[in-house]
Amino acid sequence: MRRIQGATIAALAGLILAWGCAGPEGSGPSLSGLTGLVPLPGAAQPAAAIVTKAGAKAVDASRPITPSEEYYIGRAVCARILAKYPLSQDQALTLYVNEVGRTVARKSNRPDPYRGYHFGVLETSEPNAFACPGGIILVTKGLVRKCADEDELAAVLAHEVAHIVNQDGINSISRARWSEVLTTAGAEAARQYGGVAGNLVTLFESSIDDVFKTIVVNGYSRGAEEAADREAISILTRAGYNPAALASLLGRMGSGGGGIMRTHPPTADRLAKVKSQSAAAQPGKMEEVRTKRFKEQKI
Ligand SMILES: [Zn+2]
Repeated sequence: MRRIQGATIAALAGLILAWGCAGPEGSGPSLSGLTGLVPLPGAAQPAAAIVTKAGAKAVDASRPITPSEEYYIGRAVCARILAKYPLSQDQALTLYVNEVGRTVARKSNRPDPYRGYHFGVLETSEPNAFACPGGIILVTKGLVRKCADEDELAAVLAHEVAHIVNQDGINSISRARWSEVLTTAGAEAARQYGGVAGNLVTLFESSIDDVFKTIVVNGYSRGAEEAADREAISILTRAGYNPAALASLLGRMGSGGGGIMRTHPPTADRLAKVKSQSAAAQPGKMEEVRTKRFKEQKI
């Protein structure tokens, strides 16, 4: 059984490396920029640890995805996004975005996911932001540039944190697909042959596809977006940021275009809801230090 599990891990680890989500032994496009600037604990563990538990004992194919599985899926999704957009090597900006991001994440309803929150900046002028399941959040330079101040940046990051809190990305993996992943992983261990590994890799890859399509291509449901806006406003208020910052950014973004305009359309209806919710919240105090450090960033 040990040998077969090893084969499973190797097969999936190979797949992950092919995606560019490399641990220290990997090459090609990788998380090295993100890991260099923002250590990703457990990066050396094979992402295929996701199936080891499933393979060890009788499989409960209906069980939910665990926090560690969510983390590994999120890393694989992150690797796919990094294959599309390069990670910024601007250390000062990345550390700054992490400072703001972790400030709002700490005030969320899920302040401590399995491996914590990590924020990366993508080197593209397209305004966009992505919440990879488990706690990795990527924001583009184009979107940071659209922010007028730190409160608006905090609003973007709080909205993405809310998607992680609400598990909107991970929930886009169909229940049937995940059951099949678990069942196949169990069958692999039971048979002690490697023939099922290919199926498992395909199934696992399909699960990543589900999440990638949702967060990068199609966007979440309207209900998920409204819930994330509500949660963002409440996070901003608790963190001492101006809750009206989400509305001011959305109002300036206008409509149409690709990227976040397509996956997160700032419709009049959405803007009206965000405005009324933030008006009801108690605004935090603007701090001079926040304004100063935002202006110091070269974006
Ligand atoms: Zn959203």
